[in-house]
Amino acid sequence: MSVLPIVQFPNEILSTVCAPVESITDEIKTLAADMAQTMYEAPGVGLAAPQVGKSIRMIVVDVSEEKDCLLTLVNPVITEVSEELICGEEGCLSLPGIWEKVERHAEVTVEYSDLQGQKQTVHAHGLLAVCLQHEIDHLDGKVFVDHLSRLKYDRACAKLKKRRQQEKRC
Ligand code: ZN
Repeated sequence: MSVLPIVQFPNEILSTVCAPVESITDEIKTLAADMAQTMYEAPGVGLAAPQVGKSIRMIVVDVSEEKDCLLTLVNPVITEVSEELICGEEGCLSLPGIWEKVERHAEVTVEYSDLQGQKQTVHAHGLLAVCLQHEIDHLDGKVFVDHLSRLKYDRACAKLKKRRQQEKRC
């Protein structure tokens, strides 16, 4: 397993709709393991394939305290959402240092294929539901700041730019 470099916003791959995974090859399994390690190392609670430069529909998530509840979702599809919405602060490994409030469905049902090619369903609420919506957005070429108003979006981009300039000086 290896830690992969994380694609930084803005990058074309982060705004590209990803292609479905056709079959679960050894290459896909290795990528899944590398993505998990990259997510834990960062550390983060979720990572989507385009964030490591692969424009395919696969995500990894683990919102547990002990980091022992890894979920790898191949071709995930949100099939049901609650009417109830929740609003929490979100961040993203592709936009380090940026935290903004985003409205999401409080509960979601997601169908996906696991790494054995078996169809699975997960009913999620709370942080896991938010995380799944955030990561699946990545597969559709969306980042969380796309949910913000123009004003807040511009502010977030300016903050990111400033942060990067400061990092360069260090
Ligand atoms: Zn993200």
